[in-house]
Amino acid sequence: MSHENERDPNCIFCKIIEGKIPSKKLYEDDEFLAFHDIDPWAPIHFLVIPKKHRASMAHLTDGDAAMMGRLMLLIPKLALEAGCEPYPEGGYRIVTNTGKNGGQEVHHLHWHVMGGPRPWLRG
Ligand code: AMP
Ligand code: ZN
Repeated sequence: MSHENERDPNCIFCKIIEGKIPSKKLYEDDEFLAFHDIDPWAPIHFLVIPKKHRASMAHLTDGDAAMMGRLMLLIPKLALEAGCEPYPEGGYRIVTNTGKNGGQEVHHLHWHVMGGPRPWLRG
């Protein structure tokens, strides 16, 4: 499936998807890309993004329900593959900042996945 027409040419994460900006990739399929956060807060900190450009959680529609379901099932698998220890002693945190008051800086929908031994730099 092609997502050529679902990108924003000014978006930094769309540029990462297209390979125009380098990233340390953890996982990629037709629908999602996961890569390490450039400024990690925790020993393990990566981002998962849909390849379709969606600016934020506030932009999702009913048509995105299946994609969201697949994403939520993918993240726990990626967290373990990235080195997070299993629940309950290990685990991880999933965060999606939305809008200005939510602390969102990059306006391409993304999930932060953070884990690894504490203390963390933040959170
Ligand atoms: P947010 O504040 O939720 O929008 O988070 C944006 C995240 O993207 C921050 O944690 C940044 O460190 C991360 N980030 C920005 N640019 C890059 C990049 N080129 N590669 C990897 N992570 C990035
Ligand atoms: Zn984008």
